[in-house]
Amino acid sequence: MSGEELGKYMKTPHVFTFNDKPGYNIYNSEDGEFFTKASVSLYSPSMVNPKHAPQGKSSLMLQTTVPYHWMNNWGGGDKEVYRQLKEKAMAAMIGSASRLIPGLKECIEYKDAATPLTYERFTHNTDGASSAWSWNPKKKFYKNTMSVNIETPVKNLYIGSCWAMQIGGVPGALAAAYQCVKKIK
Ligand SMILES: Cc1cc2nc3c(=O)[nH]c(=O)nc-3n(C[C@H](O)[C@H](O)[C@H](O)COP(=O)(O)OP(=O)(O)OC[C@H]3O[C@@H](n4cnc5c(N)ncnc54)[C@H](O)[C@@H]3O)c2cc1C
Repeated sequence: MSGEELGKYMKTPHVFTFNDKPGYNIYNSEDGEFFTKASVSLYSPSMVNPKHAPQGKSSLMLQTTVPYHWMNNWGGGDKEVYRQLKEKAMAAMIGSASRLIPGLKECIEYKDAATPLTYERFTHNTDGASSAWSWNPKKKFYKNTMSVNIETPVKNLYIGSCWAMQIGGVPGALAAAYQCVKKIK
């Protein structure tokens, strides 16, 4: 699908949908149909920069949060089961996104999936947390999830990264770095 065509369906590069289906439970790792029930968000890097897709084509990322250790942590180490689970998750998410982009499945020339195991491999974050600490409100590390905490029990050791904030992310990392600079300058 060309960028122009995609632009007919997506007016902005990042679109969130909130339409979780009955039975959706982010805490249920054993629901094999989880991905058919979850909302997906759509993000098109090529809408921001056309170089993020081959000429005349577009790129689209579908994203959702997933239950902790879905399906025995994505197949319990069995590579074939892992591959099948990724296919299943992708098919369900593409199906959900087709509500907004009719015929999406037929337009796809190349697809791939990143799972919490992928994030864990690349970031070394426990359980593939994308942005530092868990986002599970039942697993708070800091009392105030929105505040930045650069202090540590070790003298002159400060946290200048996403780990200074419960929900982490780029804003958390920037805010922590800024506070560290103010502290040590
Ligand atoms: C798939 C994904 C999507 C995301 N989407 C968003 C989003 O939409 N919005 C958002 O706000 N956040 C998002 N995040 C989270 C965000 O990317 C991170 O929280 C943020 O980049 C963390 O910044 P940081 O500076 O703390 O750490 P990093 O960006 O991880 O930087 C740490 C650096 O230290 C280097 N390093 C590690 N060990 C050593 C060593 N021993 N010696 C020297 N260097 C070392 C690493 O190579 C790295 O360059 C996403 C994360 C992922 C994985």
